Amino acid sequence: MDFAGKTAVVTGGASGLGRATVEYFVEKGANALVIDLNDDLGAELVAAHDGKVAYKKTNVADESEVTAAIEYAKEQFGSVDIAVNCAGIGTPQKVLDREGNRNPLAYFQKIIAVNLVGTYNVLSHAAEAMQANEPNADGERGVIINTASVAAYEGQIGQAAYSASKGGVVGLTLPVARELARSGIRVMTIAPGFIHTPLFDGLPEAAVESLKEQVVFPKRLGQPAEYAKLAAHIVENAYLNGETIRMDAAARMAPK
Ligand code: NAD
Repeated sequence: MDFAGKTAVVTGGASGLGRATVEYFVEKGANALVIDLNDDLGAELVAAHDGKVAYKKTNVADESEVTAAIEYAKEQFGSVDIAVNCAGIGTPQKVLDREGNRNPLAYFQKIIAVNLVGTYNVLSHAAEAMQANEPNADGERGVIINTASVAAYEGQIGQAAYSASKGGVVGLTLPVARELARSGIRVMTIAPGFIHTPLFDGLPEAAVESLKEQVVFPKRLGQPAEYAKLAAHIVENAYLNGETIRMDAAARMAPK
C-alpha cells in the first residue's frame, strides 16, 4: 500500500516510536490521527503539521473511547487505512517483594489492559473501518502494525506482566492476519530491542551501558526513525503478513 492520501491511526503517537512513525508517514504523504493521553505533545504535533495530523485523547484500553477516536479519524480524513499500535507501558515489578509477599494483582492487570487488550481494541476497531475501503490492485484495504518487544521472547526478571502482554501481541498476529485476509487487511508486528525513546532518558548511564552490552551490531541503541522506516516498509510491502519482525541488532536480553 502506498501512503499518498492515506490515513494512519497511530496509538502512543505523541512520543517515542509512535511519534517518529507519525512524522515519517506524514512526510511520505499520509494523514495521521494521534491517539494518546499526552495532550501537550499531541497539540505540539498537530501544530507542526498543518492539517495533516489530528490528535484525540484516548485510552487504548477503553472500548467507547477507541470507538470515538476511529469515528474522529473518519470525520477528519475520510477513512482509516493504516493502524499502528505503539501505546504501551512497562514499569517492572517482581511477582514477590523483598519480604516474599506477592505484589498486588492490579499492576499485572494494568499492563495487560494497556499493552494487550489496548492493542486488540484498536486493531478490531481499525479492521471494522478498513473493510469499507476500496481495495487497491493487490486487493489491500488496510494494514495493521502492532508493537511487541524482544521481552516477548526473553523477558528479564521483573517483566512477567510486560513479557506476557507482548507475548500476547505476538500470538494474536497470525490468527488475526488469517481472519482479516478475506477483507484484504494485513497484520504485522514489530518486536523492537533497545530503542532510544524518552523511556531511556530516565535510566542511569550505567543501566544504559549494560543494555548496550547486550546488543551485537551495531553496538548502540536503536533510533525511533529506524522503527518508523520498518513500519513504512511493512505498509509498502504487500507480501509481508502474519509475522513478527525483531528489530534489535541481534540483542538477546540477559535474565537481569
Ligand atoms: P513512550 O513512552 O515514548 O511512548 C508511549 C506512548 O504511549 C506515550 O506517549 C504514552 O502517553 C502513550 N500511552 C501510554 N498508555 C496509553 C494508553 N492507555 N492509551 C493511549 N496512549 C497511551 O514509549 P516508546 O519507547 O515509544 O514505546 C512505544 C511502544 O514500543 C511500547 O508499546 C513499548 O512497550 C514498545 N517497545 C519500546 C522499546 C524501546 O526500547 N523504546 C522496546 C521494545 C518495545
